[in-house]
Amino acid sequence: MLSTMQDVSLTVSRILAHGSTVHGDAQVITWTGAEPHRRTFAEVGRRAAQLAHALTDELGAVAEERIATLAWNNAEHLEAYLAIPAMGAVLHTLNLRLPAEQLTWIVNHAEDRIVLVNGTLLPLLAPLLPQLPTVEHIVVIGPGDRSLLADAAAQVHDYEELLAGRQETYDWPEIDEREAASLCYTSGTTGDPKGVLYSHRSLYLHCLQVNNAESFALGPHDLALPVVPMFHVNAWGLPYAAFMAGASLLMPDRFLQPAPLAEMIASLRPTIGAAVPTIWQGLLGELDATKRDVSCLRRVIIGGSACPPALMRGFQERHGIRLVHAWGMTETSPLGSVAHPPAGVSAEEEWTYRATQGRFPASVEARLIGPGGEVLPWDGESAGELEVRGPWIAGGYFGGAQGEALRPEDKFSPDGWLRTGDVGTITPNGYLTLTDRAKDVIKSGGEWISSVELENHLMAHPGVAEAAVVAVPDEKWGERPLATVVLTDGSAITYEELQAFLGERIARWQLPERWAVIPAVPKTSVGKFDKKVLRRQYADGELD
Ligand code: ADP
Repeated sequence: MLSTMQDVSLTVSRILAHGSTVHGDAQVITWTGAEPHRRTFAEVGRRAAQLAHALTDELGAVAEERIATLAWNNAEHLEAYLAIPAMGAVLHTLNLRLPAEQLTWIVNHAEDRIVLVNGTLLPLLAPLLPQLPTVEHIVVIGPGDRSLLADAAAQVHDYEELLAGRQETYDWPEIDEREAASLCYTSGTTGDPKGVLYSHRSLYLHCLQVNNAESFALGPHDLALPVVPMFHVNAWGLPYAAFMAGASLLMPDRFLQPAPLAEMIASLRPTIGAAVPTIWQGLLGELDATKRDVSCLRRVIIGGSACPPALMRGFQERHGIRLVHAWGMTETSPLGSVAHPPAGVSAEEEWTYRATQGRFPASVEARLIGPGGEVLPWDGESAGELEVRGPWIAGGYFGGAQGEALRPEDKFSPDGWLRTGDVGTITPNGYLTLTDRAKDVIKSGGEWISSVELENHLMAHPGVAEAAVVAVPDEKWGERPLATVVLTDGSAITYEELQAFLGERIARWQLPERWAVIPAVPKTSVGKFDKKVLRRQYADGELD
């Protein structure tokens, strides 16, 4: 028997309508390097309507069309986030740090016809245009050298001119909540990038979870600072979640270096921040060097790769900031688990829970799969590949405008669960600890060595700024760990001393015998350690 409840679609237009009225006074503050730029949610709502009119009336945008953004975190990007899905098209966020050939591949695969681009990013877009035959309109936001587009076959528009004088309301269509709302490609560590098509429903439900007290708990008293880019899994859902909750937003635009971040935190006093560990590592160094009052941050979300416990302690003990560890993927929207400690544990025990990847919300079901395909118990010890399912977890990838969804066997189980490629354990009360990515684990003589565990120990040494451990081929053992370390300024620590330091913390057979001091760990387009590059550099096991 069906229920008697109303069947109202969960759509982005409802988030837009709610945020721009009920929370119309909340603000989007964009950092400019000079006077910050302020706009209210009410204004954002009016401008989103104007943008929708411009895209449909002037540029002929139609339902289901992918409309690309190549932009930093700023108010205009938020307007696109709201307008494009609400009018029935698909917001396609382009990762501005991808290599040119991947970016080209992605735009062509999505068949983007309209690209909204920040003027400061024209040097990146302009050289690609000859390889982007589908692009017909380029809408330039903010200052930038427009002469770079002089030879473009596409029509060039100015964002403000396009919006000017248009109607400030829009009759948003009623959309089936299962329709695609936005598109984000994974950064393609192996093979071609894969597009995850989020639905209105998945974005909406994800938003509710982000705002849950057990997640990021945004509310009208907050000022949220998404340092994580809006092209990295929708800035982890923060723009939509903030708009829904009435939390003001502090957008860092292109000022993502430690010094301006410290300055914007100290002067505008955000209460919540979110970014990958390498960003927070940089900020910690900056704050240690030049102390500022950053105690306004009540909750700082850290995820995207494992958070070194030393980083968590450093922020809390030296600057009074609580880092909250979270796990997720492009395919999981991305919120998968969040590490809040359970009630009733001691202060020291809290640290143990906070270092894990955390607990799953009710809507994310998880299971661990052993080497023989068997489901493993949640006993805190049995390690297997994590599989998840739920209403904001991908069930396939975008197969192109005319194609069917793709469901590669290595990514989806026969019964439809997402294979995360992450290996770990789960305790009986649901805390996930990831030991590695399946492809990063070091297989030495039939035993597995966790690269993450070695890295966490090494990064707890005061003489080590960053550490990345990768497998290198070994004749006797198959693979052995190679530890690459970046030393802190003035550190003269030797490999022998680091060996001895590790020897007190892990089993002898896990100790790396190969070492390299490197100037910096190579990073991926979203700021994670790029182990693929390290492995390539040391593929033959030879050290410099
Ligand atoms: P990419 O595959 O390009 O890095 P994603 O941003 O989707 O793209 O990465 C998801 C992966 O990042 C996860 O599968 C996991 O390996 C890693 N990851 C994310 N958060 C954490 C975390 N808190 N701890 C350890 N690994 C993490």
